[in-house]
Amino acid sequence: MTAPEHAGPRPAEEREALLRMPGFGSLWSDHMVTARWTAGDGWQPARTGPLAAFSLHPATMAFHYGQTIFEGLKAFWRPDGQRALFRPGDHARRFARSARRMAMPELPADAFLAAVAALTRIDREWVPQARGHSFYLRPFMIASETHLSNRPAEEYLFAVIGSPARPATAEPAPIRLWASPEYVRAADGGTGTIKCGGNYGGSYLAQREAAEHGCHQVVWLDARERRYVEEVGGSNLFFVEGDRLVTPPLSGTLLAGVTRDSILRLAGRLGLAVAEAPVTLEDWERGCRDGRITETFACGTARAVAPVGHAVTPDGEWAIGDGGTGPVTRRLLNALLDIHYGHAPDDFGWLHTV
Ligand SMILES: *Cc1c(COP(=O)(O)O)cnc(C)c1O
Repeated sequence: MTAPEHAGPRPAEEREALLRMPGFGSLWSDHMVTARWTAGDGWQPARTGPLAAFSLHPATMAFHYGQTIFEGLKAFWRPDGQRALFRPGDHARRFARSARRMAMPELPADAFLAAVAALTRIDREWVPQARGHSFYLRPFMIASETHLSNRPAEEYLFAVIGSPARPATAEPAPIRLWASPEYVRAADGGTGTIKCGGNYGGSYLAQREAAEHGCHQVVWLDARERRYVEEVGGSNLFFVEGDRLVTPPLSGTLLAGVTRDSILRLAGRLGLAVAEAPVTLEDWERGCRDGRITETFACGTARAVAPVGHAVTPDGEWAIGDGGTGPVTRRLLNALLDIHYGHAPDDFGWLHTV
């Protein structure tokens, strides 16, 4: 067992030094929120306390049977002392959907909202100020019952922790994607539409294969035919054809990203047409080679919008556009960041200030 990260709140000076170079996913704020559920009593009131390690019995069900789900959402700094959470209600609803699919108890949306707001409020000074920087919130739930039984658990633990995050994007670096010929992420009827830990655990061998081919991430193909492009690691994918955006439809194996939905709505504002339509790997390659597909980008909460520079398969590779960041990708990224940081009006009602 590891010791608690740190005892008590960090001094302001230390915090400010850390916030200058926050990294991603390795620095944690001072507090956490936890709530327990039991089959007998349902949800207990959430507690906000110091960030501390959990002590769990080796027979805790989550270790053996994989009952773990999570969310990832961001809070942004505001000059008036408030902090703005981005679309927390959508994350709350998706968290409930993930729970349902895993036969875990659903946390009511208002309890989810209260928990993320409580952590953002108490650790407000951990929300970095610079454009691109953010406070990344990680709500999650695990089966905490101690029992080696192959069934839904009777005890669960919900928690929210928070991590200051560096700019997704100061100058976006185009990524290379590997189309794995062998591994799949999700099949019809499986868990591809939710955020459960197992979806990630099953993906790392393919990610290692991607790295061996000089790629940053895997682009997943459909499980049936290995033809249709579905999504990328922890991001959704968009193709730009001039002034039209195309993204794979929510076929039942893709994660319905909140960022994906935000891009679909923002596109109209920027005069772009949108289509949710299947795209095969061959379409993508041919489209890039004949100039019809001018850009491709991945999008998700963690990195906002990330340009794709190259695609690599066992048969060869191709560049998207000139392999750099295209103008449509850049405009969409800036439009999204403008809303995050309050530099553009929040016409969609996406921000929830605390
Ligand atoms: C979280 C996630 C996304 C992106 O979802 P956002 O809500 O935009 O953060 C995309 N694909 C997978 C597999 C994910 O887990």
